[in-house]
Amino acid sequence: MATIFTALQDVQARIHAACTAAARNDQEVTLLAVSKTFPSRDIRMLYEHGHRAFGENYAQELATKHHELSDCTGLEWHFIGPIQSNKTKLVAENAAWVHTIDRFKIAERLSNQRPSHMAALNICLQVNVSGEQSKSGITPSELLGLAQQVSQLPQINIRGLMCIPEATDNATRLAKQFSTLVSLKAQLNQQGFKLDTLSMGMSGDLELAIASGSTLVRIGSAIFGARTYTSGNTAQ
Ligand SMILES: *Cc1c(COP(=O)(O)O)cnc(C)c1O
Repeated sequence: MATIFTALQDVQARIHAACTAAARNDQEVTLLAVSKTFPSRDIRMLYEHGHRAFGENYAQELATKHHELSDCTGLEWHFIGPIQSNKTKLVAENAAWVHTIDRFKIAERLSNQRPSHMAALNICLQVNVSGEQSKSGITPSELLGLAQQVSQLPQINIRGLMCIPEATDNATRLAKQFSTLVSLKAQLNQQGFKLDTLSMGMSGDLELAIASGSTLVRIGSAIFGARTYTSGNTAQ
């Protein structure tokens, strides 16, 4: 059976091939290993093979794993789940990045709760590029206003945009949604922002995301295998 490390190498090979096909340099695309629901020992194994960036969706699970792996220097934690106000402190204390900001209130709490000895929290604003009612994320028309507000916060460093497109195999629709995020980033940078990150692409669509301009792909199941959720959404 393939180990998660060989699975990680397979994903790296997919990223390499996608970058080559798009005439892009591999260095432009970060692989975020999405470890939600998987145990700390899996993360430690990839860490020992040199991987550093991991993504988690649940605040308590992030805090627990951060604690369990506190000896792993240079490990970089990204929070990629929806954030409730009562969980912002855990995220502010344990993450280097948050990809899912779509409300000023949450960004403000994170800034206030970020310990002063830590570097500013890197954030992406999540945009609802598919327009589906059920989706988190702000609408494109709300983006500039939120970016302006959030950029005033002292302990927040606004780095880019994130999206979760529609769950579809239709490559044309997906490509259109990815390209919406690309043009929104360009528009913000024309307004004086200095965004360098486009967090888009998952196990099923990383090639398309990279062809569209992604700089960070969030890969879970292609590395760790299928997830089984427990009732509390906690790690096994
Ligand atoms: C779980 C999750 C992923 C990883 O999804 P896979 O399809 O398993 O690669 C990526 N992004 C977000 C926001 C997630 O919640």
